Amino acid sequence: MSKTKSSESVKVVVRCRPLNRKEESNGPAGGIVQMDLRLGQVILRNPRAPPSEPQKTFTFDAVYDANSKQRDLYDESVRPLIDSVLAGFNGTIFAYGQTGTGKTYTMQGAWLDPEKRGVIPNAFDHIFTHISRSQSDKQYLVRASYLEIYREEVRDLLDPNHANARALELRESPDTGVYVRDLTSCVCKSIKEIEEVMNMGNQARAVGATDMNEHSSRSHALFLITVECSQPGPDGRKHIRVGRLNLVDLAGSERQAKTGVQGERLKEAAKINLSLSALGNVISALADGRSGHVPYRDSKLTRLLQDSLGGNAKTVMVATLGPASQHYDETLTTLRYANRAKNIQNQPRVNEDPKDALLREFQKEIARLRAQLNHRKWRSKQKKEQVDGEGWDDDTAGEEEEEVEKEAEEYVKQEEQRLEMEKEAIRGDRFLLAEEKQRLLGEKERMMGDLRKEQEATEHLTAKYKAMESKLLVGGKNIMDHTNEQQKMLELKRQEIAEQTRKEREMQQQMLVQDEETLELRETFTSLQQEVEAKTKKLKKLYAKLQCIKAEIQDVNDEHVRSRQELEQTQNELTRELKFKYLIIENFIPPEEKNKIMNRLTFDPEEDQWKFQPLVPTERSMKKRPASAVGYKRPISQYARVAIAMGPHSRYRVSVNVMLLSLNSRTMCLYFNIDLSVEHSAFFYL
Ligand code: ADP
Ligand code: MG
Repeated sequence: MSKTKSSESVKVVVRCRPLNRKEESNGPAGGIVQMDLRLGQVILRNPRAPPSEPQKTFTFDAVYDANSKQRDLYDESVRPLIDSVLAGFNGTIFAYGQTGTGKTYTMQGAWLDPEKRGVIPNAFDHIFTHISRSQSDKQYLVRASYLEIYREEVRDLLDPNHANARALELRESPDTGVYVRDLTSCVCKSIKEIEEVMNMGNQARAVGATDMNEHSSRSHALFLITVECSQPGPDGRKHIRVGRLNLVDLAGSERQAKTGVQGERLKEAAKINLSLSALGNVISALADGRSGHVPYRDSKLTRLLQDSLGGNAKTVMVATLGPASQHYDETLTTLRYANRAKNIQNQPRVNEDPKDALLREFQKEIARLRAQLNHRKWRSKQKKEQVDGEGWDDDTAGEEEEEVEKEAEEYVKQEEQRLEMEKEAIRGDRFLLAEEKQRLLGEKERMMGDLRKEQEATEHLTAKYKAMESKLLVGGKNIMDHTNEQQKMLELKRQEIAEQTRKEREMQQQMLVQDEETLELRETFTSLQQEVEAKTKKLKKLYAKLQCIKAEIQDVNDEHVRSRQELEQTQNELTRELKFKYLIIENFIPPEEKNKIMNRLTFDPEEDQWKFQPLVPTERSMKKRPASAVGYKRPISQYARVAIAMGPHSRYRVSVNVMLLSLNSRTMCLYFNIDLSVEHSAFFYL
């Protein structure tokens, strides 16, 4: 892959949860995971290996042990990413790991305990606090969507009809990349609103599932936030930047047992982890860098995360581990997976003025409503001034809007009073005829009705305008900023410390790499003895490294063999299934029926399904009007035909025999019915 200047690698951090009670009681030797927080290293001990075997060491951008706080993880590893999203980059955070290792804890945490709030609620805080503290010439629009992928089907979690909703389709556009068609997105104006959206989605997720734990370990949950920001540029025009944030809680990475499943269940089992294995393949292909083809299209998840892996996005992967010895294999697989992901290069860039920015549409609509509203108010004001006898003054354009509004309201009130008085006067007028009185009163009534309608329309327009405008957040106000200065300072300090820790770790890691490299450098020795000592030390180090790599190769080989065996087993089972279906088709379905069906089937790659083509190409045949009598537009009776053929024969002359009666509406209806039915029957016979 070409490494352009702006490319940066996927950040990978590892987190290990504490031993739980059950593991504490049955694990004799405690945890198998050790962490060096300063160096960002994970050291894994194989509980089944002899003590002489070297332990496995992996280095990451950061590691978090059992005592780590949610806040630390956020400040060090997530905050910079959210800052980038607010500046208009795409960002993705995904949690990967075995079920029960803390993916959901890391992403969501316990909402009610401020100490235990996870990445998502902290990101909400961060985004809205940033908006409230930004300059007042900035306008923001924040939207949220929530979806899950379960058995390779994308489901909208914000659809009120979630349980019965169809699976959604993925589409690709040159501007935004891959997106989900018809996905609900909610405009959120505050932390509370976006939290409600999240809760709604979580509830929808739980309702559809028979067992929430089982369900969440098999489905991927994606919470998407789009932050659009408009700001006047140096050219005086408003520019819009769009940052998209994907917060992904993946399905459990453990291998699903497939043994003994058959038929439908087998297909289902094969689909459950398809997205995850496809993700693994995409990561391998990208990390390898040599293979040209990256299999993004193999699953829904990889298509949706296409930009986040090797594309236009900044990405953080949080790999979660459990410390218990019985999960050694899974833990090692997770670490390998995470280690590979470190090598992926992304090319993030700011999304400036994209065509599909919703904020632009909102601004246009608001401007349109405002113009309409102003026009109405000015009109009312103008009328008032005419009524008041004041001359219309063009110079009033600069007047305060509020004043115009007040005057418009006053005009309506005055008009109402005037009409009421006039009505009274008409009622009291004894010289008018009763009929004339009625007519005049009616006229006044109508005028009042018009006035009211006009007022209602203005109110409706105002409400629409206000609702629209309130969706846009303006920097510097609009939302809370209860935090006082001291608290702000405290936050800043905490961020500084996080930044420093990160830099320190980077430096330590660089030093470690340099240390290894300097081993190669030629050194000058004062005595032979010294040279021998130094070289022995070097040899020992290199030997240990060699052993590690050898063990690694063996492990990878073993894993490869294991996964190949599994694939072979799946293939055998699927072949057996196929043979069974063939047997039924060949022996029990007549060949012509089979051919008919096969000719009608086409494969839809978008939905990954075989589909039936409709039997009759309906649209075309419906458009043409059926000709029911040769040479004539409509069906025609024998009598009429003879009449036409006979020409102006006296016996068949219409004017003599047929009475012309005016038809009432019922007979008209009847006539139309007959006409329609004739047309229809003609169509069916064709
Ligand atoms: P997953 O989503 O990966 O299946 P969960 O997030 O549901 O796992 O975590 C499983 C259990 O472990 C939960 O009860 C959670 O509270 C606990 N847990 C996970 N990580 C931590 C942690 N870092 N500190 C304390 N408890 C944790
Ligand atoms: Mg979970």
